[in-house]
Amino acid sequence: MKAVPIPARAAAARVLVVEDEAALSMLLSYNLEAEGFAVERVERGDEAEIRLSETIPDLVILDWMLPGVSGLEICRRMRARETTRNLPVIMLTARGEESERVRGLAIGADDYVVKPFSVPELMARVHALLRRARPDRASGVLSAGDLDLDRQNWRVRRAGREVHMGPTEFRLLDHLMGKPGRVFSRAQLLDSVWGISAEIDERTVDVHIGRLRKVLSMGAEKDPIRTVRGAGYAFDETFDRIG
Ligand code: CA
Repeated sequence: MKAVPIPARAAAARVLVVEDEAALSMLLSYNLEAEGFAVERVERGDEAEIRLSETIPDLVILDWMLPGVSGLEICRRMRARETTRNLPVIMLTARGEESERVRGLAIGADDYVVKPFSVPELMARVHALLRRARPDRASGVLSAGDLDLDRQNWRVRRAGREVHMGPTEFRLLDHLMGKPGRVFSRAQLLDSVWGISAEIDERTVDVHIGRLRKVLSMGAEKDPIRTVRGAGYAFDETFDRIG
C-alpha cells in the first residue's frame, strides 16, 4: 500500500471540459486551474461519456459540436441518468446556432455561452452556477441531526461537543454529508476525497471510514454512515431518527 499524500485543503471543485478545439480547451483549463479548480479535459463526445461513467465532476463545460457524440446528445443522456441528472452543465455554442441554443436549454443545459466568448464572463458563469447548484457550500456549514460540519473552520460538532479528526476523515465526512443518501463507491471516494486516481488500495477507504466512525461515536451515538454491501458508503441523513 502506498503512502497517501494529504492535500492541505478540501478537495477543489472539479470541472470536466469537453472541447475538441485544442487551443480553446487549453485556455479554459489554464484559467480554471488558476481559479483553483481541478480540471479534466477530453476532446471527443464518446470520451466524455466514458469519463462521466467513471467519475462525476462538479460541473461540465460542454461544446456543442464534437466528434463522436454531440454535446446535445451527451447532455440529453446525462439528464436521463440518475447520477448526472443534476450535474451543472454550461454549453458552448458557435454563433448562428440561435435555435439550437434553445434546444440545448430545453434538453437540460443550465447555461450557454456563445463563441467567441470572454474568459472572465465564462468564469463568472461557472462560479454562479456552482453557487446555485451547491448552496450548502456557500453557507459553509452542513448539518444533519446532532451533527454539524463547519467547512470554513474545519470543525465538526456532535451534540454540541467538538469532534477531533484527521484531514482525510474530515474530507470524507464533508463529501458524504454534502450528498446525503447518495452511495459512493470506494473508487469514487478515492477519486473525490484523495483527489488522485493513483493506485491506492481501495481498502484505504475502509480504514478511514472506520476511523471516522470511531471518532463520531465516542459517546455511543448512532452511526450516520451507512455501509452498502457491494457498493460503498453513504451518509444517512435519517440516522438520528431511526432505530
Ligand atoms: Ca467543436
